[in-house]
Amino acid sequence: MNCKTCQTVFPDLLLDPAAPANASARAHIATCAACAQELASYEATFALLDSWHAPEVSPYFDQKLAVRLREEQAAPTPGWLERIKTRLLLNTGRQFRPALAGVMALLLIAGGGGVGISTFHRATPASPVSATVNDLQILDKNEQALQQMDQLLQDDTPAEDGGTPQS
Ligand SMILES: [Zn+2]
Repeated sequence: MNCKTCQTVFPDLLLDPAAPANASARAHIATCAACAQELASYEATFALLDSWHAPEVSPYFDQKLAVRLREEQAAPTPGWLERIKTRLLLNTGRQFRPALAGVMALLLIAGGGGVGISTFHRATPASPVSATVNDLQILDKNEQALQQMDQLLQDDTPAEDGGTPQS
């Protein structure tokens, strides 16, 4: 057994030093100072981990958790637009930007079309309040989509405008 194969069985040696399968590794370590030193450092680390105790949990942890759970369960479930917005805000992967821009463009088109159709169809005074609320909601969605598009564009432009060409 050489040093490389010996070091691959270090985990086994640490967990069960007396196992018969580790006899050749033990024989190598007995003759190799480098491997013996490395195994000793691992053993010291594991001994340190054994001495570590997890901190005591607060006695109010269960009550606090139960309250938080009830609050989350009572909260209204977010709509699909809200969930997409959350994903957009938390997402930093630049590789998805083109796809996101396409989705936002589709949303803009769908939202804009919605305004036209809804105002056209709901011109009758049958339900004026719900039509107004509906239009306001659509306008709000459009505003959100526009803000997200602006944010995407602002994130991309500094790289292009930051360095003014000197030549
Ligand atoms: Zn060795």
